[in-house]
Amino acid sequence: MRSLNAALGRRSFFKKTAGALAAGVWADETLEALPQNTNTNSKPSDLRITDVRTMVMRGVPMTSPIIRIDTNQGIYGLGEVRDGATKNYALELKSRILNQNPCNVDLLFRKIKQFGGHARQGGGVSGIEVALWDLAGKAYNVPIFQMLGGKFRDRIRIYCDTTESNDPKVFGQRLKDRVASGFTWLKMDLNVVRPPGEATAPEGIRAQYGGLPMEHSFMATEITEKGLAGVCDFVAQIRDVLGMTIPLSADHFGPLSVNSCIRLGKALTKYNISWLEDMIPWQETELLKKIADAVDIPICTGEDIFLKEPFQVLCREHAVDIIHVDLLTVGGILETKKTGDMAQDYGVPMALHCAHTPIGAIASVHAAAATENFLVLENHAVDVPYWSDLVDGVDKPIVNKGYIAVPTKPGLGITLNEEACKQHMVPGEGWFEPTDQWNNVRSNDNLWS
Ligand SMILES: [Mg+2]
Repeated sequence: MRSLNAALGRRSFFKKTAGALAAGVWADETLEALPQNTNTNSKPSDLRITDVRTMVMRGVPMTSPIIRIDTNQGIYGLGEVRDGATKNYALELKSRILNQNPCNVDLLFRKIKQFGGHARQGGGVSGIEVALWDLAGKAYNVPIFQMLGGKFRDRIRIYCDTTESNDPKVFGQRLKDRVASGFTWLKMDLNVVRPPGEATAPEGIRAQYGGLPMEHSFMATEITEKGLAGVCDFVAQIRDVLGMTIPLSADHFGPLSVNSCIRLGKALTKYNISWLEDMIPWQETELLKKIADAVDIPICTGEDIFLKEPFQVLCREHAVDIIHVDLLTVGGILETKKTGDMAQDYGVPMALHCAHTPIGAIASVHAAAATENFLVLENHAVDVPYWSDLVDGVDKPIVNKGYIAVPTKPGLGITLNEEACKQHMVPGEGWFEPTDQWNNVRSNDNLWS
């Protein structure tokens, strides 16, 4: 029986190969989809990085640089710098990884992680890490989730933002339409403090700090009773339309002081909000804990945190109920899984922030598939009609009835659709043009002497 199966397998393999030959289809994707013994172009132990190039798109849904790492064996890896960041965050790392074997993902990550920082500054390190995983997967012919230990699930739950309306019935209906299209988790931006009378705040407070972006506590902005009643009425009307069953998270509150955050959180309790996001900056562990202890709605933060360790502080202190990791800020795919696994030890689930192109989104899908305490992944591009067209290799639309299927092809499992991508490139930016000026950047990068 075994030999019969083997024979059948061989026959179907030859049939496929003959079919591909007959059709003249020798695109990379076809080669990658075939069994290991046909992929003669890659010997992983001899694989070396020969180039790092970029192109930048806008409206995808944000402005995002795409990374391509080339090798001496014709295979390449795709990565993405977090939206709104400069491509230079990735390019400054080129000289540190040239001629290295990209399959040593963790080794190279540890070499470059000192050049990353919080928020967009984590974009270069994270984007390079994603491209290294894509290469390692292509070289060994396995999907990324498999290299992380396999998957806990075949499809990834997606939550999406919805265009706001000042009319809660209209906003509620828009949210309800999302449910009709398959979404099982929603999020709304509340933008609480709007018309005069909803908050007390010192006039010109921003200018008082020289225009620097000061943390919420320093803005002396307190919500009024009228403001609280207004927000509650707004959310009550939304829940009237939407019902109470579906998870509904909330973001964008202020800036409000810690005391006002607590008053707001308490007032919203009866509407079963699934999390209150970034009420104050994530750096303020003790103040976040004060809010989390006082409010009975889960407190969530993290989209601007680089590396696992700051998340560990928040989890250990139980200053948050849910962490919100952005894979293109935290340090990439493996750092996302490690952060999730760490949080699980403290009983904290992990949601994923995502305003990425399909490259960053699919990288997030692999990490989400391989991390047990994963809750839900954001998608900011539900209303961008061409978003799925930017890549090939996965089922379309990528977000289908509120989920993304976990790709099973090698690496990320996607290729760029050049024609579609070129329609959204930032004017003046080229298509993966040479970056030789970044080949020889050298400095003494030792972190100790
Ligand atoms: Mg947010």
